[in-house]
Amino acid sequence: MNNKLLAQRDLAVLWHPCTQMKDHEQLPVIPIRRGTGVWLEDFDGNRYIDAISSWWVNLFGHANPRINAALHEQLDTLEHVLLAGFSHETVICLSERLVALTPLGLSRCFYADNGSSAVEVSLKMSYHYWRNLGHAHKTKFITLTNSYHGETLGALAMGNVPLYKETYAPLLMETISVPSPDCYYRESGESCADYSRRMFSHMEQALEQHAGQACAVIVEPLVQCAGSMRMYDPVYLTLLRAACDKHNVHLIADEIAVGFGRTGTMFACEQAGITPDFMCLSKGLTGGYLPLSVVLTTEVVYQAFYDDYQNLTAFLHSHSYTGNPLACRAALATLDIFEQNNVLERNQALAEAMRATTAHFADHPHVAEVRQRGMILAIEMVKDKRTREPYPWQERRGLRVYRHALEKGVLLRPLGNVVYLMPPYVITEEQIAYIAEVAWEGITLATRDA
Ligand code: PMP
Repeated sequence: MNNKLLAQRDLAVLWHPCTQMKDHEQLPVIPIRRGTGVWLEDFDGNRYIDAISSWWVNLFGHANPRINAALHEQLDTLEHVLLAGFSHETVICLSERLVALTPLGLSRCFYADNGSSAVEVSLKMSYHYWRNLGHAHKTKFITLTNSYHGETLGALAMGNVPLYKETYAPLLMETISVPSPDCYYRESGESCADYSRRMFSHMEQALEQHAGQACAVIVEPLVQCAGSMRMYDPVYLTLLRAACDKHNVHLIADEIAVGFGRTGTMFACEQAGITPDFMCLSKGLTGGYLPLSVVLTTEVVYQAFYDDYQNLTAFLHSHSYTGNPLACRAALATLDIFEQNNVLERNQALAEAMRATTAHFADHPHVAEVRQRGMILAIEMVKDKRTREPYPWQERRGLRVYRHALEKGVLLRPLGNVVYLMPPYVITEEQIAYIAEVAWEGITLATRDA
């Protein structure tokens, strides 16, 4: 079996996610034979460093021996059981540990099976909470511009990236949209903290105006990942927590992409010292092994649903694979690694290596900004460095970087004009230096004719 044969069979029967399938007339689909650590190997024997953690899910490498061993054991014990009326030890252990690990006050775990579903759960729960309390008029959600929360209709409605949203706009519920504190747009000389604080006035205004109809504000804490890895200061979240309390509106923290150490702390909310009313987790939750998501919430929320059945206040939401034991076991093994390997501390050195090896990118004639929060580093390619005029999206400059990186054995998958590194935590400093070298070449090639 080789790449070409498999790619042919693939293109005869598959429809790939987030893909214009016609692109594959030029761009071969790459069948992967095996993964080990940060490496992916295709059927022709080419190897690629997975510099984006396979869509931000992988934490401790592909085929991690400890997660593999845990899964083997789970497989021989219990592969799945429904979670309504039944339970299992793995999901109980995982819930206990998540409650202990997440910000104080989050005490209940509700499971789903992917990020978007977790967002749907948090939206329905928030609305339903207010309804159970007699505030059925609260039906709206407040979102930030440039945000992304998933692809199902409710989650898509919460997002604000036009590329994903516009086509489906007629199908989506309306939200109250507030300008993002995205620090890319701060004035020169203005700190990110000052800009985030300044931009909070828009949120304050929206809350003053709409709190009566608003169930919740939903945000991606610190980094708007799908929205080109745009970043803001923790002070925004601290202010947001206080304002939500003041106005009786929930705060939903979508930590699906930023949770599990990505921003330097286990959860991004920690950097603001806040506890949201709902925290959505997925992706890194299982170390990148299996689809699983969870919404953590408070006892106050839980109690608003707890009543005699006849009062019909229960949260009657379910997914067939809720709390799947294999996925939960992968999650437990992942948490074990965090606990036993000083991961967050080691990541500080890796984050510093990411910073140091890309510091000179700021001087590149077509780079407007290099920004970083923990294990996420993004490089903004622009047509005009002085005015920050972006390249027209139609030119697909990022795709050129993608192609170059593949040739050099690195999987980078730019978001439009933004090249980013979001590697598994088992990467080495040498590998980071190599990725940086390839990214520099890729950016230079991609911007050459400008
Ligand atoms: N929220 C955020 C912040 C995300 O980054 C993503 C996925 N990129 C999602 C939600 C949706 O998760 P999933 O793709 O598992 O549905």
